[in-house]
Amino acid sequence: MRRYPGTLLFEPGSVLTKNGDPYKVFTPFWRACRVATPPKAPLARPDAIAWQEPPDAGDTLDDWQLRPSKPDWAAGWGEHWEPGSAGAHRRLQRFLEEAIDRYAEDRDRPDRDGTSRLSPHLHAGDISPRTVWDAAQRVAGGHGAAAKAVDKFLAELGWREFSYQLLSFFPTLGAKNFKADFDAFPWADDKDGLAAWQTGRTGYPLVDAGLRELWATGYMHNRVRMVTASFLTKHLRVHWREGEAWFWDTLVDADMANNCAGWQWVAGSGADAAPYFRIFNPVAQGEKFDPDGAYVRHWIPELAQLPDKYLNKPWEAPAHILEAAGVVLGRDYPAPIVEHKAARQAALDAYGEITGKR
Ligand SMILES: Cc1cc2nc3c(=O)[nH]c(=O)nc-3n(C[C@H](O)[C@H](O)[C@H](O)COP(=O)(O)OP(=O)(O)OC[C@H]3O[C@@H](n4cnc5c(N)ncnc54)[C@H](O)[C@@H]3O)c2cc1C
Repeated sequence: MRRYPGTLLFEPGSVLTKNGDPYKVFTPFWRACRVATPPKAPLARPDAIAWQEPPDAGDTLDDWQLRPSKPDWAAGWGEHWEPGSAGAHRRLQRFLEEAIDRYAEDRDRPDRDGTSRLSPHLHAGDISPRTVWDAAQRVAGGHGAAAKAVDKFLAELGWREFSYQLLSFFPTLGAKNFKADFDAFPWADDKDGLAAWQTGRTGYPLVDAGLRELWATGYMHNRVRMVTASFLTKHLRVHWREGEAWFWDTLVDADMANNCAGWQWVAGSGADAAPYFRIFNPVAQGEKFDPDGAYVRHWIPELAQLPDKYLNKPWEAPAHILEAAGVVLGRDYPAPIVEHKAARQAALDAYGEITGKR
């Protein structure tokens, strides 16, 4: 196989453990990357390119009718994305000017425009990670206060490097559990649960907001990706491959390495994964990371009039509060499809079956 470096900052195999093995844990991997030879600065744009004239005009892209029409499921995407190199560079510039200083705090807030949203551009090659790395380093060099935020941002690019490295050395990452013990995990065959999750009708507002954001824009905030993935694989115990397949079909940044590494990380079956028993509480996550409820209210307008106190747990709202907010649970918005504590316990019991600690 011949490689043409450009997709990554560090080619797979260029940063290995002392024994010459691939890293399976992120922190030492990234530490080693940070002391390795830094990525080369991006080349300047050429003044001109001597294109070969095509033999004949051929088809235009429109001739191929690749855009969805029946239905046009990408109708709203134009508001959110500007595909191509110019759009990618504008996005990077805006992020560096307006958000990178607060990245360390804001990156976990789905209600804020606090991350770069470069993922589809990095995936499609609209912009190279070397360009992003170089531009971010310049910000860090420019004023000291930003250095911590820039480091955090570079570490996220580092997770991308780590995922690609894993996929390169373990090419079955998209199909098989990285940790073989998970092969015996008693996943549930819950088609109704999966459909409720896919369509944003689980009755848990943060989870539903994320899935609706995904459907409408092709994107979901990273914090919410973790919460929704945890809900599917733990509260519903549906196999991570089902969620991975849904994200693959719907994400504008769908990327084999990042997606399967992300799903296996959340499910607990991956390299350096979150332990399976770390089960996100979707109510607490909503209250913590969307404290004013702006994200949930945007994506679930039927709950917009609920007071903050009940926004992430409408089933606890007294009847008069639901009535004042114009919400009838089960009619305007679903009742929760599982009860958090019971689902959590069932997930832990299932995990006990593969660890022998029931
Ligand atoms: C279950 C799950 C599935 C995911 N699927 C994908 C996917 O298909 N494609 C994808 O690009 N990312 C995926 N991610 C990672 C992450 O959610 C997105 O990269 C991030 O939300 C993109 O937003 P951003 O560009 O604003 O990120 P920023 O916070 O601005 O980060 C900058 C860049 O770093 C990279 N990055 C950030 N976080 C991660 C991460 N956790 N893992 C790997 N790379 C990261 C991305 O290329 C991103 O554009 C997934 C995460 C989870 C938990």
